[in-house]
Amino acid sequence: MLIIDAHLDLSMNALQWNRNLLQSVYTIRTQEQFVQGKGRALGTVAYPDMRRGRIFLSVATLIARSTGRTVPYFDFATPMQAYGMAHGQLAYYRALEQEGHIRIISDTAALDRHVAEWEAWDAAHPEVTEATPPLGFVLSMEGADPILHPEQLAAWWEAGLRLLGPTHYGPGRYAGGTATELGLTPIGPPLLREMERLGVVLDLTHLSDQAFWEALEHYNGLVLASHNNCRALVPHQRQFSDEQLQAIFARDGVIGAAFDTWMLQPGWVVGQSTNENVTIANVVDHIDHICQLAGNSRHAAIGTDLDGGYGREQSPRDLDTIADLQKLKDLLAARGYAAADIAAILHGNWLRFFHQAWKNN
Ligand SMILES: [Zn+2]
Repeated sequence: MLIIDAHLDLSMNALQWNRNLLQSVYTIRTQEQFVQGKGRALGTVAYPDMRRGRIFLSVATLIARSTGRTVPYFDFATPMQAYGMAHGQLAYYRALEQEGHIRIISDTAALDRHVAEWEAWDAAHPEVTEATPPLGFVLSMEGADPILHPEQLAAWWEAGLRLLGPTHYGPGRYAGGTATELGLTPIGPPLLREMERLGVVLDLTHLSDQAFWEALEHYNGLVLASHNNCRALVPHQRQFSDEQLQAIFARDGVIGAAFDTWMLQPGWVVGQSTNENVTIANVVDHIDHICQLAGNSRHAAIGTDLDGGYGREQSPRDLDTIADLQKLKDLLAARGYAAADIAAILHGNWLRFFHQAWKNN
């Protein structure tokens, strides 16, 4: 089964964590045996493992905050530094593309060619192998802080950026993020207008509740939540309430289920709890909640956030590498999902979404 993952911080892993993602997860773990830090030697994502797992298309992020706080590798003292970091990350993806490892997909023609090639390859290769066509990446930015001012968005669009989440954790330059109750800042609405004009799709993930509803008032285009789970199952401000999920359904948006254990199980504490009671079946609980709430399987999909600042210790126990996303197929079937619904959740909904987003490109 071909799979689309709508949220992977690949360039952050490659540049800030200095991981050579052309090597397998197992090789990188061995190299990091003596490297200190959260998630080190416990990674789950690298390109050979994505190929084995047929993650043929992913949303790959640029991420560099400038919130006025300073967090090493993540949060830069000035927007100019964040701009430099994000352009470095963009350059990394372009270098991978120039060397033939990946394709950056930014319009429907390229998407359709990529899908056709992978479908033919998938049908002809039932065996597990890393010898696949190139991986496809759609470029997103998680937190708009590197965009110096709203008028600069056009240049980012030209560079390939297609999705944008205005904020991340904390007080973003454009909007309040996770763990704040801040709304849009004065430069938030002009950015949203420019996104709508250019067709840069709004990723609602990480917006505070206040900013979430304000953003929907100022932006009339297509929306997604690239990596988000359900507040009804695991109460936390980072998760979306049923009312928020319904607002996304109303725009025909799609929600990617995240694999971070604290978003899967109530009461899970980062740095304290173990993953012994968290499995991929918990992810299916969140997918199922979205499908039951919507009354269909149109809006649920995958956005794992694997290796988004953590590793195996904070991922479901039965996930060794990202290739294990293939387990979702049987888990969904065991819940009574029909083959067409499973295909929609694992790739079809994101494909429909990108076609909708790029219908004018
Ligand atoms: Zn995130």
